[in-house]
Amino acid sequence: MSHQPYETWIFDPPEPGSEKDGELQAHLNDCTDCASLYHSWVGVQSLIRQEVEVSPPAGFTKRWMEDLPARKARQRRRQIRRALLWLGGSIFLLSLALLAYYFATMTPADISKAVVKFFVNTGQTLTGIRIIFEWILRVTPPAVAAGVSALLAGWVLLLIFTWAVTVHRLTRKGVVTS
Ligand SMILES: [Zn+2]
Repeated sequence: MSHQPYETWIFDPPEPGSEKDGELQAHLNDCTDCASLYHSWVGVQSLIRQEVEVSPPAGFTKRWMEDLPARKARQRRRQIRRALLWLGGSIFLLSLALLAYYFATMTPADISKAVVKFFVNTGQTLTGIRIIFEWILRVTPPAVAAGVSALLAGWVLLLIFTWAVTVHRLTRKGVVTS
């Protein structure tokens, strides 16, 4: 069976309802080769149509451009976060390396001595601070002690607040600026 001119007509369809179209439909009913070719071609065409439909809709580029400042700000925040992460990670790794170095060069006895010393020293420091505070409390009138304590607490709170605001600003920077 000759598949011409039907193959040509599959890719270049004749006018619907024309004599040629009738012949093509008749051949497609008889010939499985041409029928399968025809269905493949129809499938490819519908794929192409879908591809066109998922391509950026009208106004997409404009909206993309309008989103640019916000996207830039997000990007800057991501960069800052990544830099902080890198810094933190580097410090952590460096500490680990130092610890590993110390442990590698120390004998178990040295390590246990160092640990005990650390706890004893911390305990001594805390005791010292407590003694100093008790002494201050003893020699200063209660009202003055309370005032100084409130002042110190206020300073600490202010420091923490300033630090928090700074970190917040740093990570949010670029939202209002373009
Ligand atoms: Zn055929």
